[in-house]
Amino acid sequence: METNMLIGASFEAGTDTEETVLNPRTGELILKLPEANTGQIDRAVAAARAAFAGWSRTTPAERSIKLLAIADVIEANLEELAQLEALNCGKPIDAVRNDEIPAVADCFRYFAGAVRNMHTSAAGEYMAGHTSMVRRDPIGVVASIAPWNYPLMMMAWKLAPALAGGNTVVLKPSEQTPLTAMKLARLMADILPEGVVNVVVGQGASVGNTLISHPDVDMVSITGDVATGKKVLQAASKTVKRTHLELGGKAPVIVFDDADLGRVVEGLKAFGYYNAGQDCTAACRIYAGPKIYEKLVAELSSAVSDIVYDNADDTLNEIPPLISLRQRDRVASFVERTREHKHMEITTGGNLHGGNGFYYQPTVIAGALQSDEIVQREVFGPVVSVTRFTDTEEAVTWANDSDYGLASSIWTQDVGRALDVSGRMRYGCTWVNTHFMLVNEMPHGGMKQSGYGKDMSMYALEDYTAVRHVMIAH
Ligand code: NAD
Repeated sequence: METNMLIGASFEAGTDTEETVLNPRTGELILKLPEANTGQIDRAVAAARAAFAGWSRTTPAERSIKLLAIADVIEANLEELAQLEALNCGKPIDAVRNDEIPAVADCFRYFAGAVRNMHTSAAGEYMAGHTSMVRRDPIGVVASIAPWNYPLMMMAWKLAPALAGGNTVVLKPSEQTPLTAMKLARLMADILPEGVVNVVVGQGASVGNTLISHPDVDMVSITGDVATGKKVLQAASKTVKRTHLELGGKAPVIVFDDADLGRVVEGLKAFGYYNAGQDCTAACRIYAGPKIYEKLVAELSSAVSDIVYDNADDTLNEIPPLISLRQRDRVASFVERTREHKHMEITTGGNLHGGNGFYYQPTVIAGALQSDEIVQREVFGPVVSVTRFTDTEEAVTWANDSDYGLASSIWTQDVGRALDVSGRMRYGCTWVNTHFMLVNEMPHGGMKQSGYGKDMSMYALEDYTAVRHVMIAH
């Protein structure tokens, strides 16, 4: 198992406070990992700065070849990466093998192509005797801070557009899930020039904070909690760094009376509980029409009670445990507080699961009202609430009544209504008759307190490059 960080060309262990890395399925210790010291963080930033001079001058075709090689090496090491990710996150191995790592490799391949196809305004003589052109140039050294829910995928979403754009990176994975980041760093070191990618490990408050406050970092990209995003903004303001913030979510799901109930139930079972709901787009806040409400609650509760998550044979498991005891207890406390209100009913789940792993039962809470905490706050666990609405106006108003603005979905067989309502949603994404589906060609990112900046797609490449005007007097 790789336990060293990558700083320039050097693989080295941290020397500061030891972080415990646990197996969420058993609660057992995987290893203790010392975090990077301040000198190591400084050297990582210096290595990225030194590498920028050369990397930023490579051609798109040269960078494209490197990104394609990274995708290949990920596939060549798929099994080892999948085992590590499953061990560290508790994810069912097949989800990592078949869904997540293929998407990670595809992300590098997408940006390998995208960087050779960037567009800008037409060059021309917008002032007589002067030719103007627009360039898209690299920004510099990017500090990338990743969360624990999809360690490899978040790493890919951050690295691929940044590298394609000609930037160099210092990445810090979550202190809870550093294993695949260190392994991938080792693999990338054989492909990329020294210092183009650096990986340091440690806590947010120490290593993360030092990195985002570093005067020689030009841009900070973070995926994490809204509170963490606000800290990034404060730190970035000191030297006016660029920021790219992918923060939390609380996705509303509007189910109209004419929706295909079977499809809705199948969809919510999959998209509300994938990764145990530890997903910023999880379909967790259901608004159901007056005629479909009762049937939806009954059929969803029945379907959710069948979710397999604790089988000794991991290939049968559909969802993982929570990432940590702290996260499990946080989820449990949200559910416990719903019991204090008689209008809500826990129709399935609602309890801790026995054993040492950090499991929580997949849960449905019916009868939730718009003002309830379970409707308003991000739980980030396998808990879905259902609220009854009376008409379209109410559904749209309630769906948009949230500090978050990342993802949403509407379920109806009426095309006109689908077009009308999807245009009124204040979310970075609205799916119709599905949820959760992401493709590397399309943008993913938030509105409101879910942050700004896009992952994936040409828009991410735009976020990681600076628009510059060059004017030539004749
Ligand atoms: P978190 O904010 O606690 O941590 C995210 C990362 O930020 C970690 O690497 C952490 O070490 C680092 N960090 C924490 N405090 C920091 C500080 N002061 N300075 C610098 N770095 C700091 O979030 P998490 O618990 O790891 O992830 C869950 C959250 O992330 C949820 O709120 C979820 O919705 C959000 N998320 C959003 C997206 C998205 O695309 N919008 C994707 C995944 C997760």
